[in-house]
Amino acid sequence: MKLSLSVALCLTSLALAQEEADASRWGWNNYVSSKSLQKNIKLPNILRHSHKLLEHSKLSNGTRAFGTKGHNATARYIKQLLDRTGYYNTELQSFPFFAWSGTSKFSADGKEYETRTATYGKAGEVTAPVVLAYATGCLAANFGPAIKGNIALIKRGDCDLGLKVAHAGTAGAAGVILYNNVPGSFSGTLGASPRPEGPYTPVGSISGEDGDALAASIAGGKAIVGTLIANVVAEDRWSSNVIATTKRGDQRNIVMAGAHSDSVPAGPGINDDGSGTAGLLELALQLPKFQVRNAVRFAWWTAEEVGLVGSRYYTAHLTPAQNQKIALYLNFDMIASPNGGFFILDGDGDTFGTSGPAGSDHIEQTFKDYFTSAKIQNGTAAFTGRSDYGPFLDAGIPAGGVNTGAEGIKTEQQAAWWGGKAGIAYDPCYHQACDGIENLDTNALLVNTKAAGHAIATYANTLRGIPRTRNQTVTRRSSSLHSELIGFDDGCKHDEDVKV
Ligand SMILES: [Zn+2]
Repeated sequence: MKLSLSVALCLTSLALAQEEADASRWGWNNYVSSKSLQKNIKLPNILRHSHKLLEHSKLSNGTRAFGTKGHNATARYIKQLLDRTGYYNTELQSFPFFAWSGTSKFSADGKEYETRTATYGKAGEVTAPVVLAYATGCLAANFGPAIKGNIALIKRGDCDLGLKVAHAGTAGAAGVILYNNVPGSFSGTLGASPRPEGPYTPVGSISGEDGDALAASIAGGKAIVGTLIANVVAEDRWSSNVIATTKRGDQRNIVMAGAHSDSVPAGPGINDDGSGTAGLLELALQLPKFQVRNAVRFAWWTAEEVGLVGSRYYTAHLTPAQNQKIALYLNFDMIASPNGGFFILDGDGDTFGTSGPAGSDHIEQTFKDYFTSAKIQNGTAAFTGRSDYGPFLDAGIPAGGVNTGAEGIKTEQQAAWWGGKAGIAYDPCYHQACDGIENLDTNALLVNTKAAGHAIATYANTLRGIPRTRNQTVTRRSSSLHSELIGFDDGCKHDEDVKV
């Protein structure tokens, strides 16, 4: 339908009036600065979000793992609050992800073995003779007719675990026990199924010592009957990233910041990463008091804890033109560890030797500037790419961030700088049920939220020092979305290397 001229003019003036009203409501004449944004960051407001996240976890038995009611409630909560401001275009980026979790038990000849499992193994329960595979089971010919209907005992090594199990499956094995080729226990992944070599079976894995002893008995002619029980939950789970972009600001120069909104199944994740989630949310709720020169985009990633799935999905689905518009990415994962430190990701690589794309050095310096002005000693965290900034590095986007450490151990030097106890973890409740409200260092939560505010406000004003060079054909590490599936047992891939 074509509008008449007078109607069009009328709409234009209405739009202008609305814009003026918005301008006064949001202070659009008032460009954001580090100082002004920081001033609006209040600890009780951040903690209000933390308490909400804890409530969400109670919807699903104390967890906010992706795909649970608890996590969905967190995503909804964030989106609702942001929508209410009217300042953002918000989006739930929803997609399915195949989730596998499982445990196995194995006993034989009256002995209960310490048993782990391998991702993608099938569910099942079998009691049958335990039969040795020849060699390491990497060839179909390594499995004779005696395997049929029985439990195959296979040594690790020479080829991937999935190939061994598939060959055993083709030979008719009812189950597979994998044993380590070195001392100690292990767990791994079989890789996605189906595969051409054959079907998977229920799987358990045992230590090198146990496996060698068992194999020696069987080779010596002893008949051994074993019981393998594999409990497995494997399903597609739908889950969402929450993405919010300021309506104002230059949309060709986007300053992006993210935290992950999911926890591990074991706990509510109020520090990991409820701290980054709450801090960024509060920043996103205060930013509407100001005008921005460059657009700011916030992201709350789903399924970080099973392999950076949400952030990988996001970067994998950026067109080259969309990628080009993202000037940089800032990551905030675990910013309130109770025995933590103030670590900045090593963007220039001068501490750990691995740098990010050009501009990552500038981001590191921007955080350093903040800690210097706040008179807080900072440490450095290795730029390994093993949190949600990793997929951005792969996409050639400059990145950085701060964290307070996870399961790493605090040094004497760090305790002297930051207090806390040397010799114990930065977060003793890391990935555990006790990662609740009382697990937060509220001072660190406030300090790091302000650090995030400093960086966001700085770059929302100017991107000087951040080059926009992308080399799409050269990536630093592989991040193919479907190339791997990481079971819950593998846990969160936080940076463990922190240095002072
Ligand atoms: Zn985390």
